[in-house]
Amino acid sequence: MNKTIEMAEANILHTYNRFQIVLDHGKGTRLYDDGGREYLDFFSGIGVYALGHGNTELNDAIKAQVDKLVHCSNLYYNEPAAKAAAKLNTLAGMDKVFFTNSGAEAIEGALKAAIKYAYLKDKRHDHEIIALDHSFHGRTLGALAVTGKAAYREAYAPFVADARFANMNDLKSVTDLVNDRTCAIIMETVQGEGGIYPADKEFIEGVYKLCREKDILLILDEIQCGLYRTGQPYAFMHYDVRPDILTTAKALGNGIPIGAFLLNKKVAEASLVAGDHGTTYGGNPLATAAADKVLELLESTRVLDNVRNLTPYLEEKLDALVAKYPCIKERRGKGFMQGLELDGVAPGEIVNKGIEKGILMLTAGVNVLRLLPPLVITKEDIDRMYEILDEVFAS
Ligand SMILES: *Cc1c(COP(=O)(O)O)cnc(C)c1O
Repeated sequence: MNKTIEMAEANILHTYNRFQIVLDHGKGTRLYDDGGREYLDFFSGIGVYALGHGNTELNDAIKAQVDKLVHCSNLYYNEPAAKAAAKLNTLAGMDKVFFTNSGAEAIEGALKAAIKYAYLKDKRHDHEIIALDHSFHGRTLGALAVTGKAAYREAYAPFVADARFANMNDLKSVTDLVNDRTCAIIMETVQGEGGIYPADKEFIEGVYKLCREKDILLILDEIQCGLYRTGQPYAFMHYDVRPDILTTAKALGNGIPIGAFLLNKKVAEASLVAGDHGTTYGGNPLATAAADKVLELLESTRVLDNVRNLTPYLEEKLDALVAKYPCIKERRGKGFMQGLELDGVAPGEIVNKGIEKGILMLTAGVNVLRLLPPLVITKEDIDRMYEILDEVFAS
């Protein structure tokens, strides 16, 4: 067995059934294992590598910050955090940012802000949150409280937040759960890990309207679908809606761990105050220098144009696979966030076959093959993806 795999399995808690390769380095849209074998990256470290691998401008900015100041704590100001926050607010059309180290922490903060907002209004301690089936919001206890997957939740009841679960794209299932204790509705604009389910226009706009009417806060989790992946800066911009609270992470640091929750003015002015929430590392100058550069590069290198220009081609190629292979039931997705629902073949088996043939992909839900390529892929990368997948499904 590979020495690294042996050492990892002997020492790292086994909470992942890892694929049997050791990744060593990357360049552009390609990753290389410790034996020098090349893989086309269609998973981006789970939606993280928006700019691909080894972007020299980003790497230089990170290196420069390492030599300047890595950490300063939130007891002092630092310029990269201020700059990254200003860019994020502008991009998302929000008012205030709180930086975290991960997506799950962004969800924790979002839930705290929503519960505090409701508490300040009515002083109750029995607020409920409506979440959706098949949702994924992270692995911490607060995030699990609103994650709609029984297997992840089973051992951990009772939960720190009281959630009721409705169905994606079924407005009545949401309306039925609303009562005077409901303080927030949390949803992914495009469900990722649960199986790539984009919100329908009528559904998300209906939820938004409901929230406005009843002063229920709308929390949109765009940790996976945000930051240009679907062909808009944030996926909610495809619709006529605006979140009260927005969570973002994954692509924000292009690999440097950072997340954030963003509040609109209404919530920012009537929820968390000094002393209510904190983090030692969150928003540290190293992570925010990376985020600031990532946000700059995502804009200056026009990745949005690339996503928009190539989405029809990507969809056409995936639809060709759907038409050719009866074991692929349908394609779902938005932009560079695509899923193929499989029938009679396990998505993990396809991912493993893909590894053998030189492509890295993901699964989602129980029967979905998930594709999250870097946002900088080319038409040639899509052609290569098609060639490999054609071989994989043929075998
Ligand atoms: C990945 C993910 C999270 C959790 O983020 P972590 O950084 O793994 O804690 C939350 N919500 C969504 C939609 C995600 O895709």
